[in-house]
Amino acid sequence: MSQYSEYNTEQIRSHDKEHVWHHLTPGAAAEKGMPLFVKGEGLNLWDIEGNQYLDASAGGVWVTNVGYGRKEIVDAISEQLMQLNFFASSMASKPAAIFAKKLIEKMPGMQRVFYSSSGSEANEKAFKMVRQISHKKYAGKKNKILYRERDYHGTTIAALSATGQSQRKEQFGPFVPDFVEFPHCFEYRSQFDETDNYGLKAAQLMEDVILREGPDTVGAVIIEPITAGGGVILPPEGYLKAVEQICKKHDVLLIIDEVVCGLGRTGKWFGYQHYDIQPDIVTMAKGVASGYAAISCTVTTEAVYQSLQEDSSEDKMGYFRDISTYGGCLAGPAAAAANMKILEDENLLENCATLGEKLLTGLKALQDKYPIIGDVRCLGLFCGIELVKDRTTKEPVDESVAIHVANACKQAGLLIGRTNRSFEQYNNILNMSPALCITEAQLERILTILGEVFASLPETK
Ligand code: PMP
Repeated sequence: MSQYSEYNTEQIRSHDKEHVWHHLTPGAAAEKGMPLFVKGEGLNLWDIEGNQYLDASAGGVWVTNVGYGRKEIVDAISEQLMQLNFFASSMASKPAAIFAKKLIEKMPGMQRVFYSSSGSEANEKAFKMVRQISHKKYAGKKNKILYRERDYHGTTIAALSATGQSQRKEQFGPFVPDFVEFPHCFEYRSQFDETDNYGLKAAQLMEDVILREGPDTVGAVIIEPITAGGGVILPPEGYLKAVEQICKKHDVLLIIDEVVCGLGRTGKWFGYQHYDIQPDIVTMAKGVASGYAAISCTVTTEAVYQSLQEDSSEDKMGYFRDISTYGGCLAGPAAAAANMKILEDENLLENCATLGEKLLTGLKALQDKYPIIGDVRCLGLFCGIELVKDRTTKEPVDESVAIHVANACKQAGLLIGRTNRSFEQYNNILNMSPALCITEAQLERILTILGEVFASLPETK
């Protein structure tokens, strides 16, 4: 018998309203009642009233890469937890060792996996590595961490200090010192009048900040391969390669935040692998176990690992003195290994790349028809749709229009995301990230519903 069977729907709703503090949700909105989903299978979701939805948002925040209801993962977790559920990650464990080996096989040039349990935490570990290397190698001087305008790196104070979205940061300061912002690389809303070589020019803006701050004070740059919450912004031609070279030139570590793109979302194992670059540190979370367990990883090169060891028997503080309790929960790597096996056995990276192309073609066809769609951006099954009042001026639509489109899709049984709700600068962007096991028929359904919704907008009549 289910442990919830003594509760009826009304009681659950009332307990929720009284006691649950929902993420990113004002109290007044929660008071109206939140969606209450109770079952998932593949891309399908059902709410407590029995309504069915096609989820093109991977659980609302780009997580469920292999879809809902994966018995293989649940069985792997259950088997592991019955054997042993926990032991601090300063000890060895079967699942942590085996998943680390499998992960490193997908990441040429990388060598070490540090486990924790959220994306923010994985980034915090990366920042602490950079700061400790600065103390050990550069007398504490090379400790600045540069981050990019519009990128998001997490919710804890240091991760938020490294976030380039001003409205997310409002009222949460003061922030951690020595995190420095550099300009975005959003070609659709370019900073330059000339359109040629945008990627190289945008990378130069980053180097300008390194030079202004002093290269001997800059320890690392952190970048999302695709800016996710800031608007699904793909790196322009040549940008990431130039960023990598600039980092090398100034002895600056390159941290790639793959919390969203990691584990197949873009049609390759990692987003950065589309751009022929070699990071020093890669962080990942959401797709690592598709929401079946809380696991994140900070993956480094052997050079980073070696620089955080005791240099001598006197150097007792010289190794990376960091821990995360839930980095030792064995559900994480057990789920991650089963998740990776599904991605491989079902060729989901190929499916992602092929159906991602089809989604892009379908969305471009909608763009040809409806001028309100100013820009469509996709890599694999990660898509952004930017809505504008006027294609020439690119003036964004009011937030109410994006809200209306997302709500109309929901009414029609399709769940899509909206980027940074209530953020004035970019609340005009819709996003989609269906599970990588999506079928052609489901993809057609997404395009049909979106087409009907756009056709029904007063703005397109
Ligand atoms: N980095 C990126 C790129 C993210 O999108 C997020 C979460 N949306 C995070 C880090 C933080 O992850 P978490 O919420 O698991 O701490």
